[in-house]
Amino acid sequence: MEKHAILMTTGSLALSNEVKAEMQLDVDSRSLQFRLTTAFIRELILGMVDGNGTHSVVPLPGGGSYGMEAALASFVSRTDRPLVCVNGNCGEQILEIMRHRGIRARSLRTPCDRPISVNELGRCLEADPDISHVCLVHCESPTGVVNPINELVQLAKQHKVKTIVDAVNSFGALEISARRTPFDVLVTVSDKCIEAPPGISFVIASLDELESSVSDLGSLILDVRNHWRSIEKTGQWHSMPPTHVVQACKKALEVLAVEGINKRSIRYAAVSDEIVRATEKYAIPLLGPRVRSPTCVALTSHGTINSQREFDALYAHLTKYNLYIDPNLNIETCSYTIGCMGAVKPTSIYLLATAFRVFFQPVDAIRAPH
Ligand SMILES: *Cc1c(COP(=O)(O)O)cnc(C)c1O
Repeated sequence: MEKHAILMTTGSLALSNEVKAEMQLDVDSRSLQFRLTTAFIRELILGMVDGNGTHSVVPLPGGGSYGMEAALASFVSRTDRPLVCVNGNCGEQILEIMRHRGIRARSLRTPCDRPISVNELGRCLEADPDISHVCLVHCESPTGVVNPINELVQLAKQHKVKTIVDAVNSFGALEISARRTPFDVLVTVSDKCIEAPPGISFVIASLDELESSVSDLGSLILDVRNHWRSIEKTGQWHSMPPTHVVQACKKALEVLAVEGINKRSIRYAAVSDEIVRATEKYAIPLLGPRVRSPTCVALTSHGTINSQREFDALYAHLTKYNLYIDPNLNIETCSYTIGCMGAVKPTSIYLLATAFRVFFQPVDAIRAPH
């Protein structure tokens, strides 16, 4: 039996055995059984976002970036003038996708350790009435800062501006209701807070957007409406789905439905608190508890870890314990990120505490006055 890596990353995550067990079954992607599995997944997700009657869930093969690029390609055209709110890497990536598609996007930039300000968005929308869309990230990586999507989306709506939300790192752990937060399009994935294997992204779009016709999309495979029409008409995916992952995802969503999004949020927050306690002698959280997502915690160890090279040493040290955290230091804040999602065991946090002590202790010894 191979040894599992102990994953404390922000995706993909440590999975429960009951979710992994579902991947033992071979199924035919066109069978009635598989089509029912797909329909069940779409319904569960739609229910979780309160989207019944207003929205529809379109599963696509691929990770979060695939889902985001498909959503942007399908719902923002070259003549549109989107505004991208940026306070982290995922916002930057949205801007990059726009550049590749030849769309002239504006940006509203905020330092990556602060949430996007509702007032500032208001000023941008007042100042530029040509803005057609606001693109936002709910919970940014690598810092885990939570943006107030409820207020931001409502404000955009008041200005009759459409909204596209990256909820890749939050759906399943933070409540999102299409009634309270009337987004036009929202994207998530199987392998973060849903706690399923990687391989599926979900574009949740309003029926108005899905039913509107567009010309000159510039892509066949990224056309979300195409996938939606296929799945609505035949129950089948437009191109070959990752069948084993889809089955595991169904199980993971059932588990989520039983646990509830609120309870999951509380469970992650407890893991986050444990990690902070386990590392507190050597690291401090970048963000205060009010703006910090329960899904991950960004830590700083000023004095010891100030460069990627210094962080590489900690990362390599942790892998000797079979522990995996996110591999990149955020240069802007000198912070590194530990994931709190998935089946994180108390023994894993204990191991993390030990590994940190061994890594940082020699430094303590040198620094101590006696
Ligand atoms: C992880 C993540 C992505 C990218 O997803 P991939 O599956 O790695 O392509 C995008 N946005 C957010 C907020 C994320 O956390």
